Amino acid sequence: MRVKQIGGGLVKGLKVTGTHLFRQPVTRPYPEQHAYTPPRFRGAHRLIEDDCVVCHACDRVCPVNCMTIKGYRGEDRKFVLEQFDIDYNLCMFCNLCVEACPPKCLLMGPEFEISAATHNDLVWTLEDLSYERGESL
Ligand code: SF4
Ligand code: SF4
Repeated sequence: MRVKQIGGGLVKGLKVTGTHLFRQPVTRPYPEQHAYTPPRFRGAHRLIEDDCVVCHACDRVCPVNCMTIKGYRGEDRKFVLEQFDIDYNLCMFCNLCVEACPPKCLLMGPEFEISAATHNDLVWTLEDLSYERGESL
């Protein structure tokens, strides 16, 4: 009776193994293969610099005050963006800044590999946040 039970269990186990043997793996060999990020993923920000009107709406709504934005009024009376920093030591990827932006020039992209060796390197500047740079990654 006991031998019969063990034999039955073994056959059942082998059957389960057999059904999974030739299936596609559900995991990805990261980092060799990039992880999937869904369309509305909240990764690092991207700024379409030319469309920014330096209104500070994003900056004002940020709950952790991690944005530094500076600009000046140019000769043609239009605001020119001078500084746009996001401190990723503090940012919690809440998306409030993106929602508050009137011209919709601030986005959150798919980039999530933003770890750095120092706190200073986690402060992203205009150059790091540029939309063109994000597109080329
Ligand atoms: S995602 Fe949230 S925490 Fe990060 S900069 Fe925008 S408002 Fe601030
Ligand atoms: S809310 Fe948009 S337009 Fe206004 S400063 Fe922020 S990024 Fe620029």
